[in-house]
Amino acid sequence: MAPEAITAHKLRERIGSGEVSAEEATRIVLDRIEAVDGRVKAFLTVTPEAALAQARAIDAARRRGQKLGPLAGVPVAVKDNFCTEGVRTTCGSRILENFVPPYSGTAVRRLAEAGAVIVGKTNMDEFAMGSSNENSAFFPAHNPWDLERVPGGSSGGSAAAVIAGETVVAYGSDTGGSVRQPASFCGVVGLKPTYGLISRFGLVAFASSLDQIGPLTLDVTDAALALQAVAGHDPLDSTSARHDPPDYLDGIDRGVKGLRIGVPREYFGAGTEPAVEAAVRKAIDILTGLGATAEECSLPNTDHALSAYYIIAPAEASANLARYDGVRYGLRAAGAEDLTDMYAKTRAQGFGAEVKRRIMLGTYALSSGYYDAYYLKAQKVRTLVRRDFERAFAKYDVLAAPTSPTVAFKLGERAENPLAMYLADVCTIPVNLAGLPGLSIPCGDDRGLPIGLQLIGKPLDEATLFRAAFAHEQATGFKPKLAPAGKGERT
Ligand code: GLN
Repeated sequence: MAPEAITAHKLRERIGSGEVSAEEATRIVLDRIEAVDGRVKAFLTVTPEAALAQARAIDAARRRGQKLGPLAGVPVAVKDNFCTEGVRTTCGSRILENFVPPYSGTAVRRLAEAGAVIVGKTNMDEFAMGSSNENSAFFPAHNPWDLERVPGGSSGGSAAAVIAGETVVAYGSDTGGSVRQPASFCGVVGLKPTYGLISRFGLVAFASSLDQIGPLTLDVTDAALALQAVAGHDPLDSTSARHDPPDYLDGIDRGVKGLRIGVPREYFGAGTEPAVEAAVRKAIDILTGLGATAEECSLPNTDHALSAYYIIAPAEASANLARYDGVRYGLRAAGAEDLTDMYAKTRAQGFGAEVKRRIMLGTYALSSGYYDAYYLKAQKVRTLVRRDFERAFAKYDVLAAPTSPTVAFKLGERAENPLAMYLADVCTIPVNLAGLPGLSIPCGDDRGLPIGLQLIGKPLDEATLFRAAFAHEQATGFKPKLAPAGKGERT
């Protein structure tokens, strides 16, 4: 039996009133990690001493009557591509296995200022390339609802940790779906905010025109709280939006009367499991029952988004990953004859198969003679995808679709077939190409395996997504429940 789920907003209240101490809350989570992480494998590094020290500092501040931050005492886990000062940051890769950053990124610093207690670094596909966590160079994370299945990826460790009760809030990164898809597979709330809303200073880069940090939480209120804590302009990130985030909790309960929902037909294509389609349509009916309107619409270039992404993301990755040369970070291969040989040996030993595949694809797409045929063309397709959304948002306030066409698949099922793996992200990738916010919320299950509804919004309009998601949550009487994380059991 899993212990009772507690949300960040309830826990924060209890810590504020002194009913629970931050130290107690932290111990509960650390004990749970101890009890289940041998099976779930959501963490690459756990930092119990630092977490307990931070928790005690919060408790002391409370006793002194100091004002506490919005996440004071709340256990938080961050994906292992967030640079954390003095704490190993591997990116799920051998090449960074022993890399200890000399600084923390902006999101991590803001979390500390908000009073969050960071309990550890979560498992991920190597350099965030993957949809199942099986590309982790260390070991795959498992889905706590059914340990023989994947938790999704690349932020699979973050999603699994939340639903297994190994943290209260987690953060991941989403380049093509890596927060939303694991959120959907694990039955948690996952947000990919508008491109530029959360600073990426200190987030190890995968594809810089697409990467965005996002929270994974047990409910919608927590997602709003978790976004609030880290959102907002940062001069250290040149792509950071010049935007003053609103109070995301303010008006979250205003309901959906008059909200115009578009339902893009291309998101229910071949490969969509019937149970997924049924659950998503039921969720949309719930929203229309509350006073929203919904109608079918078309995003005609959706079909081309996946191909464009698999040119653009690898192209950017091939440039970003050039820095792992055995000189500046992490691993250096032994026994090299000269400098070029050292580069080659280090990269051959340090990178896994999927990362090498992306580097080769990207280098090819950017090489002279092929640049126009691939990279430039992909950028043109990207513009078409963005325009599809612009046209739709002239008519609708939000778009509703599945997060992923399927529920969590079995470990090993797609590992040898890159195309099947890439297809896990058909519904999430267009949103990254257009830089829009996308929110995945639980909307049912297929024999115990969670299904996610994806709500897509206008740029910087996260507030409307939260409002719609909150209305759905209230109407369904949703109560967060932890997964058992037991031996292959399903509830
Ligand atoms: N699964 C996609 C990929 O492998 C998306 C990854 C991500 O969002 N980081 O590139």
